[in-house]
Amino acid sequence: MKLSFRNRIALNYMIATAVIMAIIFSVVFFIVQETMYQNIDNNLNFEASKHSGEIKIIGESIQFINKAEWEEVEHKEIQINPIFIQIIDVNGKLMDKSPNLKSDVLPFKNINEYGTHFNTNLKDQTIRQIQKPIESNGVTKGYMLAAMTLEPSMMVLNKLRNTLLISYLVMLCGLYFISRYLAGRSIIPIKNITQTTNRITKNNLNERVELPVYKDELYDLSSGINQLLQRIENAIERERQFTSDASHELRTPLASLRGTLEVLIRKPREIKEYEEKITYSLTEIDRMTETTEQLLLLARLDANNNELNKILISLPSLINEILVRYDKDILIKNLKVELQIQNKTELLVPKYHANLILDNIINNAIKYSKHNQSIIIQIISIDNSILCKIKDEGIGIKHEDIPNVFNHFFRSEALEHKHISGNGLGLSIALKSAEAINAIISLESEPNAGTTFKINFLSKS
Ligand code: ADP
Repeated sequence: MKLSFRNRIALNYMIATAVIMAIIFSVVFFIVQETMYQNIDNNLNFEASKHSGEIKIIGESIQFINKAEWEEVEHKEIQINPIFIQIIDVNGKLMDKSPNLKSDVLPFKNINEYGTHFNTNLKDQTIRQIQKPIESNGVTKGYMLAAMTLEPSMMVLNKLRNTLLISYLVMLCGLYFISRYLAGRSIIPIKNITQTTNRITKNNLNERVELPVYKDELYDLSSGINQLLQRIENAIERERQFTSDASHELRTPLASLRGTLEVLIRKPREIKEYEEKITYSLTEIDRMTETTEQLLLLARLDANNNELNKILISLPSLINEILVRYDKDILIKNLKVELQIQNKTELLVPKYHANLILDNIINNAIKYSKHNQSIIIQIISIDNSILCKIKDEGIGIKHEDIPNVFNHFFRSEALEHKHISGNGLGLSIALKSAEAINAIISLESEPNAGTTFKINFLSKS
């Protein structure tokens, strides 16, 4: 049976209450029943003791002394809950009985313990009875039987039982519907969440779940979902921006390429002119190829392949490998590159991502340095992290541009240094790689004084 969440809450609540109420009602019923028996038993004890003192034993016969008075009272008063008294001898033969018994005789039960109370029947009535021995000089002469009808008490008990049973069932039914209603009200925020999330598609990602009034668990759930939606919206917006920037970045060189080739084929030209235009076109194609490769790399970094983090390399040898890669550029600009290692402990970093970070930052330091300047690379091991500083004396970055240098395709004052090639993707790649290994990149820069990048590799990365 498939029950809704609301019905399940109501049912569980009802079962729990049903168990508790069943225990309480049973206890109430048994307490009333016990109290009633106790009252009757006390009465029977009292009457049996009282009448034991009102008998005479003559030989084998046992008789009541005041039978005449008794009969008179019987005539005058109507007893609502009469007590029957009867005397029998040791053989069970009837000796005497109270006038209210008329022709009836109380049944004698052969029991071991005299003085205990038990239920039995007198004609079609249930009665409660006690049997006490009558002794004379230490010898049992007979038994005094005292009994009382249980009918009125039974009626009260039955009524109590029926009332408890009916109110139990009514209460459970009522409780089920009330708790179903309350459960329904308390899950309204969940319904809101479901409706809103069902409505949201990629075209209306700005919709949000309505927050409940009270700051409870459902409030936390709703605001958690809203935060998630916000993050998804931001990510999709970034993705849109990236796609549009990327296509723009590729469309511009393609248009220029097309223009160059169109001009070239309009009329026959000198060989030298052909050579010039084709060389230009090839450079543009190279640039586009590099941009496409970098875009692919960024997409791959998004996939976050953890396996790549497992291959480690010593940081100084990685830096040396990168410097060898840019040997030619360093020579052309006659740069002085210095690698300083402060403490010679084991300086291991994840090879793949550390290479992407340092390659882009060292390449920039070389690109944006002027001739005959110095680049200092420092490696400092602090506690459980490795700090790598790359300091150049190059063109520097305008203060207001520093927060943007990690954005895709951002180039600070690109028109000021047209001769320096680039597409504004290098630092985006470095940042994404750093995120993949929990490294932190920060920078300080002063225009025309130089830039210092700091990369903090945490040892657990
Ligand atoms: P690019 O391919 O243009 O170098 P990057 O993403 O690597 O792209 O860098 C973004 C921008 O940050 C660069 O265009 C440049 O303006 C600035 N920049 C980065 N590193 C340096 C540096 N060492 N010195 C001066 N400017 C830098």
